[in-house]
Amino acid sequence: MIYLDNNATTEIDPRVVDVMLDVLRSGPCNASSQHAVGRAARLRIDEAIDVIGSAIDSPLDQPGGPRLIFTSGGTESNNLALTGLAEPDAPIVLSRIEHPSVIAVAEHLAAQGREIRWLDVDSTGVAEIDSLADLIQTGDRPAGLVSLMSANNETGVIQPIEQAAQICRDLGVTFHVDATQSIGKLPISFRTLGASAVTMSAHKFHGPTGIGGLWLDGGVKLRPLLHGGEQQLESRPGTEPVPLICGMATALQLATSELPEIQPLLGSLRDRLEQGLRSAHPHLVVHGGWSEEDEAARAPRLPNTTCLSFLGADRQSMLMALDFAGVACSSGSACSSGSSPPSHVLLAMGLPAEQVQSALRFGVSKFSTEKKIDSAIERISNCYKRLTQKRAVEN
Ligand code: PMP
Repeated sequence: MIYLDNNATTEIDPRVVDVMLDVLRSGPCNASSQHAVGRAARLRIDEAIDVIGSAIDSPLDQPGGPRLIFTSGGTESNNLALTGLAEPDAPIVLSRIEHPSVIAVAEHLAAQGREIRWLDVDSTGVAEIDSLADLIQTGDRPAGLVSLMSANNETGVIQPIEQAAQICRDLGVTFHVDATQSIGKLPISFRTLGASAVTMSAHKFHGPTGIGGLWLDGGVKLRPLLHGGEQQLESRPGTEPVPLICGMATALQLATSELPEIQPLLGSLRDRLEQGLRSAHPHLVVHGGWSEEDEAARAPRLPNTTCLSFLGADRQSMLMALDFAGVACSSGSACSSGSSPPSHVLLAMGLPAEQVQSALRFGVSKFSTEKKIDSAIERISNCYKRLTQKRAVEN
């Protein structure tokens, strides 16, 4: 199988596995226990927090400074942020292209009477930042929270986070960034980002599934989702998963230290895939404002991601044919790809139904190679030809 679904999850780095096995084999690990075994577990967590703090350029050991809450991943961090950061009745602003783990929470809160204000995106998939200040200030009450992803999981389009942070700072609004997709693909400094809270998820950067974090700037208050223990200063009670935490720290340290080599590698592999497919099928549409003629019209994208419309083919049929041909990709966010609704992201971009209906997402990783990409191009191209010929015969 040629795995090109790295925005859904990535292959764990063998060096991360080694660290985790070491911790798993080291014995019991309850960091709250008051004995030497517990203290050893606590020490491992403290060391992991130090490693993570350096990797994200935000020391996490200063009293009153930024802190990190370990969670089970991006979904939990987003739930925690949306429900716990703003006053319970304050309006929330979010873009229409957020991940379902943000949108579904917002819809849940809306059903309980909470006001949600939606930030539109343009046809290239970039949030319309010029309307953010007005959205925050609209109505009887200013918004208490803005949530914006750093980069979209389906199109890879990078969002204007710095500008949003500035606007939120000027207007005194709490600003949450879902950085799940950009960590390990783009340089990121939490210290200079200007956010109040940032979501991350280890399995997106070659770490284990089941662990992520919500970074909080110094002084940011949070209401917990879970109750029942004193761990993590009661922000997220429950025995800390020490092997997962150590795995996440190692993965993050590797992802950030190797980024100068990995980022151009991802870009060249993704471009190879895109160019190979486009030269075989020039009418394929690359989303994110991609235009051969006009470089300025292109939206900035994650280096590893391409979202393409295979006009004349149905995305679910393509997905199944590709699975059979040994290529793993996605027809939308992994969390919704089991069902048939078309991508809310492409719909929010106002794309024609035919493009939405035929769009697939590919994401390369540091484990993709030119050889695998070339083989994938051939297989994808063959599936596409077969499906469009079949459709022409049926019609
Ligand atoms: N946010 C974004 C942008 C994502 O891409 C994902 C994963 N698809 C999540 C949140 C959820 O992360 P997790 O799978 O760790 O719950």
